[in-house]
Amino acid sequence: MEIREAREALKLYFGYDQFRPMQEQIISEVLQKNDVVVLMPTGGGKSICFQVPAVVMPGVCVVISPLIALMKDQVDALLENGVPAAYMNSSLTAEQQYTIENQCLANQLKLLYVSPEKLLSAGFLSFLKRLNISLFAIDEAHCISAWGHDFRPEYTQLKALKQQFPQVPVIALTATADRLTKKDIQEQLYLRNPKVFISSFDRPNINLTVKPGRDRFNKITEFLERHRGQPGIIYCLSRKATEAMASKLKANGFKATFYHAGMPAPQRAKAQEEFLRDNVQVVCATIAFGMGIDKSNVRWVIHYNLPKNIESYYQEIGRAGRDGAVADALLFYSYADVMNMRSMLTENETKKEQTELQLVKLERMQQFAEAAACRRRILLQYFGESMEQDCGNCDICRNPPTTFDGTLIVQKALSAIARTQEQVNMGLLVDVLRGSRNSQVLEAGYDKIKTYGAGRDTSVMDWQRYLHQMLNSGLVELAYDQNYTLKLTEHSRKVLFENQKVELVKFEESKAQETEVVKA
Ligand code: ADP
Ligand code: ZN
Repeated sequence: MEIREAREALKLYFGYDQFRPMQEQIISEVLQKNDVVVLMPTGGGKSICFQVPAVVMPGVCVVISPLIALMKDQVDALLENGVPAAYMNSSLTAEQQYTIENQCLANQLKLLYVSPEKLLSAGFLSFLKRLNISLFAIDEAHCISAWGHDFRPEYTQLKALKQQFPQVPVIALTATADRLTKKDIQEQLYLRNPKVFISSFDRPNINLTVKPGRDRFNKITEFLERHRGQPGIIYCLSRKATEAMASKLKANGFKATFYHAGMPAPQRAKAQEEFLRDNVQVVCATIAFGMGIDKSNVRWVIHYNLPKNIESYYQEIGRAGRDGAVADALLFYSYADVMNMRSMLTENETKKEQTELQLVKLERMQQFAEAAACRRRILLQYFGESMEQDCGNCDICRNPPTTFDGTLIVQKALSAIARTQEQVNMGLLVDVLRGSRNSQVLEAGYDKIKTYGAGRDTSVMDWQRYLHQMLNSGLVELAYDQNYTLKLTEHSRKVLFENQKVELVKFEESKAQETEVVKA
């Protein structure tokens, strides 16, 4: 199978003249029946990576997707392009399923979308055994990782595919690229030496701004004055809040509507349609809005409240500026929001471990909002990418805070991490640095290491702020899967062993005195 045929299919069925850079490499691996992992941001063009091979390879491509609501849209779009496709999930009647099964058996379909529940249901794998399967495409593959933001236990059963169909290639796709998720995808799907394709998560056209949460509504109307006629989304926390916001905006003369999962389907479709057609300028929505919405000229996204983690924030702002033109992301931040979110997380979750993880992720989100370093650098760092220079397109870059030479402080922290064999979490590290005599420190013998007490003259609060800055700039990494212990990075080795200089940000008011608590 040649890439030339794939290029023809791209033109014929999808109407595009050429592949985007990574698509071509990915597709050529798939055509050679190699396993592939694709990490590409939303809007990057992942679907083409399995839809084109599905069209040119003999047999049917089975697509596993957790988003039942989106399956129909995808299948409809394919049918419209003349690609025979169907989906199977719990929403179909027995009769409809039967018809599709027969189409599969008669080799009439090029793509079959199934939910993970359907795939793992009784008898389905043996049904698949009767088909000629060209490829398995696992969409939203990050759902396999318990460390991710969207863990689905059924996904961990997908290893059955490689066990039962060792000769069929697998392509796993996701818009989440952190280290642990990547590792989980490769290991848990039992992929054979997969080629991993990571495209940059940078969206340089989106300008990032964080503002204090005081007086939000006035700030929003000012913002809208500056964005006259430009379509955008305001993400709110609750269904009620979306409705209230929309009517407040309408009362102020803006064309606004609302969208949330509690609305009847026709009303939801209507809101979506009005936004797509630019009949309304503003959609006030819960996070239910946006998945699968293909509107390239969304000019701005406002977060009325702090999102629950960086993955969600990134995904939501990513709905702006898909056409590559200038777009704005504005986030409101208040400490009250963090407290609210914390209590929501601790109330809702039943599993203690998941709750703890969610809380740590919320804390990273809070650090992002409070940060005094280039926001884009922080975002990309979070997704495992590093940047040569600050972005110049965020509020911090445009209005930089004052910094000082923090090399010595950073070296103390890194040295203490190294000397405790990277086995300590943030709280314990601060105890060690400040020479605390608490039992955890003493039992581990950390009072014997050289850096014990080396940071005595810096308050607990200031240490935490410095460590957050270090996390944000990739000087240290937080291992979610190892009890949240701090790990050294490439960058930290340079500071520790090659004496590379580090600038830290000065705090306006140091609360050193207030937080001077030495544990006995
Ligand atoms: P993802 O699944 O990564 O979020 P999609 O597959 O939905 O992204 O693609 C995003 C948009 O890019 C879609 O509108 C799609 O039609 C378009 N697209 C994908 N590949 C190409 C290409 N080679 N040329 C032009 N447009 C493309
Ligand atoms: Zn910046």
